[in-house]
Amino acid sequence: CGITAFTGQEPALPFLLQGLEKLEYRGYDSAGVSLVDPEGIITKKAKGKLEALKEELNKEMYLQQAGIGHTRWATHGIPSHLNSHPHINADNTISIVHNGIIENYQSIKEGLEMQEYTFHSQTDSEVIVHLLDYYYDGDMIKALKKVTSYLEGSYALCVTTLDEPDTIYVAKKESPMILGKTDTAAFCASDIPALIAYTKEIIALEDQQMAILKPGKIQVLDQEGNKVDVQPVFVPYDL
Ligand code: GLU
Repeated sequence: CGITAFTGQEPALPFLLQGLEKLEYRGYDSAGVSLVDPEGIITKKAKGKLEALKEELNKEMYLQQAGIGHTRWATHGIPSHLNSHPHINADNTISIVHNGIIENYQSIKEGLEMQEYTFHSQTDSEVIVHLLDYYYDGDMIKALKKVTSYLEGSYALCVTTLDEPDTIYVAKKESPMILGKTDTAAFCASDIPALIAYTKEIIALEDQQMAILKPGKIQVLDQEGNKVDVQPVFVPYDL
């Protein structure tokens, strides 16, 4: 029920964890993170409190400078390790976190299973990563446009890929997503408190928009993938 993502010239994990802590009020039953290492995407998950996730982490996970994090409030599939986010594709080159509900996941899943895709969770969310894998040909925005055109329901979505270890792709419909940046980093989360220790200038992504985050840079795109010029809003209070 909460998402954090970070890319910068410094370790990603501290932002991801402090953000997930600030989003605890939204409620959750499990948590997880993926960190993008040039050697491969490292994913850790745990059922229960954030403390349980922290026990899974080690100091090698403070080296990567991009990653995504999630606290889950189960809607489809019991709270469990396998059902926790992030969800990854078969060759571990794409990782996603999702908040919301994909209403037509069953029919998408059946289609993907006919294409020899194997599912490891009972979640609605897992269809997103396999559908991205199916359409991805090196252009993640093109794949995201295609995938989101098939999704019915609500989503706040962050995507990482091994092809672009310093880039986070974001999409949103009917679930909140707030973006922010510093000179050396860009990040996003489900709510402002998760960002406020890093910046007071925020962008609330609108429904059907996408965003590309790179260190120190945010590009917002409309549904067709055209660039949208968005000015950040100053948040004049501490949270
Ligand atoms: N529907 C997804 C699941 O059950 C995401 C739930 C959430 O927003 O935390 O895994």
